[in-house]
Amino acid sequence: MKNFNVYNLVRKNILELKPYVSFRDQNEFISPVLLDANESPFGELNRYPDSTQKELKQKLAEIKNISVDQIAIGNGSDELIDLILKVFCEPKKDSILVMNPSFTMYGFYANINENNVIQLDLDENFEIDKEEFLKISKDNNLKVFFLCTPNNPTGNAIEDIEFYIKNFNGIVVVDEAYIEFSEKESNIRLLEKYSNLIVLQTFSKAWGMAGARVGTAYSSDEIIKLINTVKAPYNVNSLSLNKIMQLISYKNIIDKNIKSTLNEISRIKNELLNVECVKKVFPTDANFFLIEFYNAEKVYQELLKNEILTSKRSPQIPECIRINVGKKEENNKLINVLKGI
Ligand code: PMP
Repeated sequence: MKNFNVYNLVRKNILELKPYVSFRDQNEFISPVLLDANESPFGELNRYPDSTQKELKQKLAEIKNISVDQIAIGNGSDELIDLILKVFCEPKKDSILVMNPSFTMYGFYANINENNVIQLDLDENFEIDKEEFLKISKDNNLKVFFLCTPNNPTGNAIEDIEFYIKNFNGIVVVDEAYIEFSEKESNIRLLEKYSNLIVLQTFSKAWGMAGARVGTAYSSDEIIKLINTVKAPYNVNSLSLNKIMQLISYKNIIDKNIKSTLNEISRIKNELLNVECVKKVFPTDANFFLIEFYNAEKVYQELLKNEILTSKRSPQIPECIRINVGKKEENNKLINVLKGI
């Protein structure tokens, strides 16, 4: 995007807002005597967490090869979606663009914030129609495009991401919640080139830390500062921050888990070829499949009877169910039940 000035897109009241800064944030060193925050002197979790999540950001900056000021940490990437809307989208006036079908939380937070949601229907391969995108994106009140890749619930990675970043007159949020399962590179590398880009990632999927609620946003220093201005000061708790720090040093275990998930993906894909009730298995770049059945309702109920919970997508995506990969024995149970239908 040429001659892009991010501040032209920001809500006026947010531009005037001063971020909350605690006394601890204002001091370089942590004093041994802390009498500034009305905490209890007793107990294990008596201190507030670091509101700037310094340690984790330093580690992530090293790993991603960007600066600490280009990282915001959220209570899951869900919170970051909400914060992005708060920064850029004026309630009752501005709109967001989402792919259809895609992750429902973009619309959920937009509804709470009273922003319009404009749907960009994906084609039969779940790709974006570029002409349709160019037509729709001319709308002046369109502030943010949520581009999910690999896309949930369809599973495919979207092609030619740079085209959308280049041709959108607003912020493009590339949601990479499932990127670790994909052969595609992260779009973080494009941050150098485009100042309207935000990349979202999460520790909830490949990292196996959904319970910790930690997500990350990568963008320009300016956008990250704005996100940090609207976030709750202590949005990520110390237990979660400590766990994530420990986990990062065991990256080899995560890599092993990703590999085993990918092996299961290709094994299940082959198995599903021989299952009668399955009509089509859509290609996936993630840890789940979108599967079209001859009778999705019947399959869903039959799986439930066998204590297997899946994510039914019909009627929005006709006769489809989204099913993620579990442990080997869980996957075997799934296949056996499906074979019996
Ligand atoms: N983006 C996508 C595409 C997702 O599928 C999910 C979780 N289902 C999220 C974001 C939210 O993840 P988190 O747990 O980090 O809030």
